[in-house]
Amino acid sequence: MQGLEIQFQIQSAEGVRLHLQNGETLIDAISSWWCVIHGYNHPRLNKALLEQANDFSHVMLGGLTHEPARKLAEKLVAISPAGLDHVFFADSGSVGMEVAMKMSVQYWKNIGVTGKHRFISLLRGYHGDTTGVMSIGDPEEGMHHLFQGYLPQQIFVRPPEGAGNGSGTIRHTVEEALQELRAALEKHHHEVAAFVCEPLLQGAGGFNFYPASYLTQARKLCTEFNVLMVLDEVATGFGRTGTLFACEQAHVSPDIMVLAKGLTAGYLGLSATLASHKVFEAFLGEGYEKAFMHGPTFMGNALAASIALAGIEIFQNENYLAKIKRIEDVLHQELSSLDSPMLREARVLGACGVLEFNDASQHKGLQTFAAEHGVWLRPFLNVAYTMPAYVMSEDDLRTICGVMREWTQQ
Ligand SMILES: *Cc1c(COP(=O)(O)O)cnc(C)c1O
Repeated sequence: MQGLEIQFQIQSAEGVRLHLQNGETLIDAISSWWCVIHGYNHPRLNKALLEQANDFSHVMLGGLTHEPARKLAEKLVAISPAGLDHVFFADSGSVGMEVAMKMSVQYWKNIGVTGKHRFISLLRGYHGDTTGVMSIGDPEEGMHHLFQGYLPQQIFVRPPEGAGNGSGTIRHTVEEALQELRAALEKHHHEVAAFVCEPLLQGAGGFNFYPASYLTQARKLCTEFNVLMVLDEVATGFGRTGTLFACEQAHVSPDIMVLAKGLTAGYLGLSATLASHKVFEAFLGEGYEKAFMHGPTFMGNALAASIALAGIEIFQNENYLAKIKRIEDVLHQELSSLDSPMLREARVLGACGVLEFNDASQHKGLQTFAAEHGVWLRPFLNVAYTMPAYVMSEDDLRTICGVMREWTQQ
């Protein structure tokens, strides 16, 4: 949160447009922190919400269960990478990741391996704002110094930097990054429960893109060193990098995968932590001794589950992957070749276009400039980016890119 900034008050929203109280309209370039993938006020999602509300909105998922939760779990298992066969619902990306971390630690305890309770994660990563996941987020960006003594100490390695999908300047190669990961695993594997990362696209830590080959090799290293692999697909899941899940591009199945954001498309909070049968099995047993004790009140909320099911149906029936490919093509045309003394780099991956400035001062005023041109952008760190809803028209997308380009050419 920032104190000194203009607040825009929203009256209504539809498709990719935000209608303000003062009568102005903005094209949303960032789909409300990347979650509103179907656009605002979607008739089919509205219908799913209302129909479910007329049956019931919520019941506890302890002892009771219901169709929307069961169907959504089945659907997620069907569409996710092979081997992810079990689903745990919680209420936000952060909590979904907390669940993944607790599951990883308890997995080793349950199978009788002691001492594995730390995590290896990537610098520039972001996994949410609750305490456990803060500890695996970038130490500097996550301001770990403020919480010293409170946060568990994790192990960080540098990701490959630059050259994600062939664009950009290489600053840290895949080989260098893999050597670093191997060294960390050699030194710490006996105390590490899991390696955690955002696949291909590191979001809130500054939009670093890295090649799929890193993920493929990291999966092999995790297996070699007996460490679980947890993939945080909260931002990348549901098409953002061009495939339904980013890890498909690396042909890997993690042991645990977390989804949120696009899952409910901005309607309600919901996360799904998917786990392999190997992980699931470790929690079975007589009584509660090995059980996974995590029971959020809103677990498997029926309204959220119904919306998620409708959203997945829309994604599949309306061929969203083709829409995403068209967005990627336009972003490449508009942004990839941008040249400006302000810019360190312009890069594109799937439905994500990023301008990296030499430093943050160079986008100061861009948010206001964009709003004056009818576009809602929100630059942060040293980047300005667009991550539009997949239903955005080519014209609207070119308007957004035009504003970003114009700023860099002044
Ligand atoms: C947004 C995000 C989270 C946190 O999700 P919330 O729903 O905001 O708690 C976790 N991981 C990644 C990669 C994210 O982008």
